[in-house]
Amino acid sequence: MTLINENYLKLKAGYLFPEIGRRVKAFTDANPEAKVIRLGIGDVTRPLAPAVIKAFHDGVDDLARGESFHGYGPEQGYDWLSKIIIEKSYKPLGVELMPSEVFISDGSKCDSANILDILALDNKVAICDPVYPVYNDTNVMIGRSGEADDKGYYEGLVYMPCTEANNFAPALPKEEVDIIYLCYPNNPTGMVATRTELKAWVDYANAQGSLIFFDAAYEAFISEPGIPHSIYEIEGAKTCAIEFRSFSKTAGFTGVRCGLTVIPEQLMALTKSGEKVALNKLWNRRQSTKFNGVSYPVQRAAAAVYSEEGWPQVQETISFYMENARLILAGLKAAGITCYGGVNAPYIWLKTPEGMKSWDFFDKLLNECHVVGTPGSGFGPSGEGYFRLSAFGSHENVQEAIQRIQQKWGK
Ligand SMILES: *Cc1c(COP(=O)(O)O)cnc(C)c1O
Repeated sequence: MTLINENYLKLKAGYLFPEIGRRVKAFTDANPEAKVIRLGIGDVTRPLAPAVIKAFHDGVDDLARGESFHGYGPEQGYDWLSKIIIEKSYKPLGVELMPSEVFISDGSKCDSANILDILALDNKVAICDPVYPVYNDTNVMIGRSGEADDKGYYEGLVYMPCTEANNFAPALPKEEVDIIYLCYPNNPTGMVATRTELKAWVDYANAQGSLIFFDAAYEAFISEPGIPHSIYEIEGAKTCAIEFRSFSKTAGFTGVRCGLTVIPEQLMALTKSGEKVALNKLWNRRQSTKFNGVSYPVQRAAAAVYSEEGWPQVQETISFYMENARLILAGLKAAGITCYGGVNAPYIWLKTPEGMKSWDFFDKLLNECHVVGTPGSGFGPSGEGYFRLSAFGSHENVQEAIQRIQQKWGK
């Protein structure tokens, strides 16, 4: 008989977005005339930039001709893409990287999950609460946890609550941890970490010999000066941190698929007997065996994000979303709703009015305002009483959604 990986059975069945979909469908089936505005799921809505589309087409045309055909590319991605990323995205931050430290991939969800392949199960892992569910679930799947308790905390994982009380900035864990997941700008809270806060994490990790996974999927949305875009802007980060980046939110690649992972050459971890091993080499080995690279036209499209025409086009779309964020934030505040984020990230994290439970607020918002958002409790127990609205959508829809919320809750 074939046996399954029983860790999968520990996962709680009703995953957040299917449950949202189920409730929205039940509502629209019963109210087919209602105009439902969706500010729930974290997916972009605007088309790819014209310069990106042009490069994408050119890449496909190259494949149509014998002299410019490309077969398997390097598993780590084409050198020309790594080089342009370093030049345009890291150098301006004062961060020096080598192309061998940049691994191009089909997205950072996959990378942040697959990276667990090269690390021992014995590592103690700390994640934020609320959190991007991928970090939690992939650790459960690989067998690093026991069962979940009534609240939804898995045995063996360390949770770092991020609430209004600590301004959504987790405290350093009291117990010793080996791997720490940080995501800034944060999904779901939309909050950022200052240089001082990140320095404290880097110092902690270097002192403990622990590893930071830094998810910078939303770095392009940072609008305030002085907020770090990369963990490597912090002195000492190259000996303790892996950074994940993605073209998904930055340039609308959620359906195209391209991301990158940075592993500095000097980043080490230990064998059981105490020998140092470079994580860059292990990841390279992992990717060379289990991955065959991102398609050539996609990498051409990604490179065009940094081109003279592409860059301002991509920035314009980001500004468009951030104008939505501004409208949501201003509108909710005017209605007397306490909210966070939305300044350096496309997410607004609001405190539910009258202390409502997240799912109760979801139902009320859907039934009375015909607006869909994401219940904070779906991101972890400490998200209870909060709610996420995303800034992806049209100005008209965002304005209308906010008007409806103001009519319902405004003073
Ligand atoms: C959207 C998102 C990503 C990007 O994932 P891709 O696989 O690159 O599309 C990564 N991290 C977080 C927290 C996200 O919200």
